[in-house]
Amino acid sequence: MPRYHLLFLIFTGFLLPFCISAQSLPTIFSTQSGMVAPLHIPLILSGNFGEFRGDHFHTGLDFKTQGREGFPVLAAADGVVSRVKVSPWGYGHALYLKHANGMTTVYAHLSRFATPISSWLLERQYSKRVFSTDSRPGTDVTFSAGDTVGWSGNSGSSGGPHLHFEVRDENERPINPLQWAFNISDSKSPTLGSLRVIPLDSQGLENRSETVEVGSKGVFKIPAGNVRLAVEANDQLNGALNICGIYAIEVFIDGDLYSSLSIDTLNFSTNKDMNAHAYYPEWNSSRTQIHRFKPLPGNRLSIYNFTSDAGLWVVEDSTMNIFVKCSDAHGNIATKEYTLLGVTALDQETPHAQNSGIFRPAIPSTTTALAHGGVEVIWPKRSFYSRETASLQVFESGEFSIGPEDAALAKPFRVNVKNLMVNSSKWVAVRLSETGDRLGVEICESQEGLVTFSTRKMGRYILVQDTVPPRLLPKFSASPLVSNGNLVFHLEDALSGVSRVEGFIDGKWVLLRWDPKKKTAVYRALDSQHIPGVKSQITVRVEDAVGNESFWIGTVEMSK
Ligand SMILES: [Zn+2]
Repeated sequence: MPRYHLLFLIFTGFLLPFCISAQSLPTIFSTQSGMVAPLHIPLILSGNFGEFRGDHFHTGLDFKTQGREGFPVLAAADGVVSRVKVSPWGYGHALYLKHANGMTTVYAHLSRFATPISSWLLERQYSKRVFSTDSRPGTDVTFSAGDTVGWSGNSGSSGGPHLHFEVRDENERPINPLQWAFNISDSKSPTLGSLRVIPLDSQGLENRSETVEVGSKGVFKIPAGNVRLAVEANDQLNGALNICGIYAIEVFIDGDLYSSLSIDTLNFSTNKDMNAHAYYPEWNSSRTQIHRFKPLPGNRLSIYNFTSDAGLWVVEDSTMNIFVKCSDAHGNIATKEYTLLGVTALDQETPHAQNSGIFRPAIPSTTTALAHGGVEVIWPKRSFYSRETASLQVFESGEFSIGPEDAALAKPFRVNVKNLMVNSSKWVAVRLSETGDRLGVEICESQEGLVTFSTRKMGRYILVQDTVPPRLLPKFSASPLVSNGNLVFHLEDALSGVSRVEGFIDGKWVLLRWDPKKKTAVYRALDSQHIPGVKSQITVRVEDAVGNESFWIGTVEMSK
């Protein structure tokens, strides 16, 4: 039975079932046989469309590839290659196929491309002297449905071998590929966890330190007052333990529809607003997918089909009944009910004045700036999704803390630090956990006694100088030469990170394939830029993000 008919039977009310959108799809994709599965192995997902990832919604499907690389990746439909992107980060080796109906399919984290793309790419990399590239072949390269466009891999920012497959509409907006009935087995219902009740103070600011977790069994006492709500929800599919994302949520409060959302289409320009849809403090700390019922004022996502205009007020001595219905893209459904009982509220003011930092109301429509102890923080307009209290505290150690740490931001903000060490440079800002562990590094610019950086993450920072060059040496022994004739180097940089890698054989530029995950750079003998059986001088240069550089120079008798 086609699954959209099943969905149609199950869904009533405000959710838009897929069968309706499927009717308007162009012909080449509109039937079950119209889109070829991009892998010719059992289709098991390790990630789905709309699940929370880092600071965005995942925009495609992640197909498992049995822990291995090298499975043929097939064109989902006839199309012309519209983009080939190679990067040590992100999608790694990615191929974009444009179809006659204006839609695009994307195949990412490939190990390599099929001909003629592979030969076109190699020529381009050598002529431009680059590894990374983002371009369209000069002449049209077409593939038919089912043709091999490349081989699956683990390139770019991929956590293990898999194929990232994406479908985009004619406006480059990613859409849920599960609209097309791939042979994916999914009989598991989504999991609905506990509710989050987020109190608002008398100013309408979220007092997230007082958020209450509410289970579905029994009646939960909540201080009377204005609140926002969110619910923990995720999904699993058959054959894998990976935690994926849900498709739709409907919420009824005391019997009336309060909100309805479904994740059908995303938009790259607003996709980071996932942070504002998520209950950010827990997403940030524990990667728990908690969905807010209503968007924060600055949230531009178009996933909300309906949201009530009514505020949520927990009335003293009264109960509030919350019914949540959650579905996955294959029509499996979970429901839960939660009951709140209003009790006498204590002081609702957000507590934030107990330490020595400075505070200021942050209003999304204006720039917010704070300056204290030689540190200045400037949040541009619309950085905050809702009104917050911005804070800055500078410690004697030189560390400084920017808050509120549990608020998501829509865009980066700038930090300026007066620097007493004139003429020094190569600064990085290290973001620290409460226990002093390094959470992240931002590269600074320094000029005229000022060190500045830009970041989206609030929290505790310390400025550190990075004067240590990257580590660069042959991967396995004293010589970079390995048995298949390739040259393999190990490279890493502890603080600012490797940003540039270059290789030369007898003074001639050669392509080094750099993989930051494996911390390797490889010259492939098949590129035939060397003379076999002759001693060649090899030079490799590695640079970190603040300009420290390392060289490896040696003589190697190339074998093949
Ligand atoms: Zn993916």
